[in-house]
Amino acid sequence: MTSNTDLNDALMARARRVIPGGVNSPVRAFRAVGGTPRFVERARGAYFWDANDQRYIDYIGSWGPMILGHGHPAVLEAVTKAAEQGFSFGAPTEREIELAEEILSLVPSMEMVRLVSSGTEAGMSAIRLARGATGRAKIIKFEGCYHGHADALLVKAGSGLATFGHPTSAGVPPEVVQHTLVLEYNNIDQLEQAFAEHGADVAGLIMEPIAGNMNFVRATVDFTRRCRELCTQHGALLIYDEVMTGCRVALGSAQSVYAQAIPGFEPDITVMGKVIGGGMPLAAFGGKRAVMEQLAPLGPVYQAGTLSGNPVATACGLATLREIKRPGFFESLTAKTRRLVDGLSAAAAAEGVPFSADCQGGMFGFFLLPQLPQNYTQVMKTDGERFNQLFHALLDRGVYIAPALYEAGFVSGAHSDADIDTTVAAAKEAFSLLPK
Ligand code: PMP
Repeated sequence: MTSNTDLNDALMARARRVIPGGVNSPVRAFRAVGGTPRFVERARGAYFWDANDQRYIDYIGSWGPMILGHGHPAVLEAVTKAAEQGFSFGAPTEREIELAEEILSLVPSMEMVRLVSSGTEAGMSAIRLARGATGRAKIIKFEGCYHGHADALLVKAGSGLATFGHPTSAGVPPEVVQHTLVLEYNNIDQLEQAFAEHGADVAGLIMEPIAGNMNFVRATVDFTRRCRELCTQHGALLIYDEVMTGCRVALGSAQSVYAQAIPGFEPDITVMGKVIGGGMPLAAFGGKRAVMEQLAPLGPVYQAGTLSGNPVATACGLATLREIKRPGFFESLTAKTRRLVDGLSAAAAAEGVPFSADCQGGMFGFFLLPQLPQNYTQVMKTDGERFNQLFHALLDRGVYIAPALYEAGFVSGAHSDADIDTTVAAAKEAFSLLPK
């Protein structure tokens, strides 16, 4: 298979004239890896086709939501039926209750949930809720974790340990992030130091339990336990950002995985997105009743949305969750993802390429590093040029992975063992082309 990007090139040139950078979300632009983004014409199952009618095995799945693959018949039917009944009402619907009930049954740490339209909105609202519920201002986050592009969360670590951060975007005044403390992921000493210094002022600690925005880095069990203990001890709320991991790494989300190692483990607030909307703009945040009742119209914390709980999006999410709950779905998804990760690891070993990989449920990550990294600094030791070569060699062979080395990958229920074996064979060739 050869890469043929002419129609994609033409679309990109046209897009650049009317859309900043030609894309509506930066990572789509292939800035890091170079080359022209593929403009998607249509998708089905595990595949999509670009402007040149070239087919790709899709390991991005819209960055996580497409856990059933594209165009699953049950989801299509639910969405079509909902669209016929109306696009948006701005008034409550029974389907919102059904989706809320479904989410709460899957993630029982939440007693109530509010539906919104994007992970950014959900994360931003969870922070406001934590601040409103505790009457405190400070937030702890970790370097390499992404929680959407709300101003207060666009922060990178300062120069010293456990210092307040600097904005990572123009347009965010330093005062807006002055209450956001940025720490190193999996660093228990720093965490303890931060709580010792600021514990009484911390409203919440927000974390990705398995960080998919630095490829795939698990919080260690000890680190997770300490996060929970210190939040409890200091009266801060533990906010689990499961936008990516929610109903993706396990039916019960990452918190169910950690609860196996830490009996009774629960976050106070959970942020969800992606899979619960099945590819439609839908996200959510939820938690204990007493905290959630701080939200308007019951309480003083304001939060709202014209399209929140949208009837077509909720139909899509509900149909998706009902499919992934079927007996055997997650076992099969987990086995396929494991087959991919094991296959890639064996192919890299056969070609003498330093490589490490990990997966949970239908989410995976791999590194051109001999050992799995524990934090952002270690992830960034990857040789970017080598990753870019690998990315393009895979793309040329019809395999579409994230166009940046700090992004996770996703397998869907529609990927067959044959798709995975084709991918592994492509990867073996791609590894053989990397400079030794
Ligand atoms: N939190 C996490 C963990 C995410 O991965 C993302 C998006 N990739 C977000 C929040 C933001 O979600 P959205 O892009 O829907 O605003």
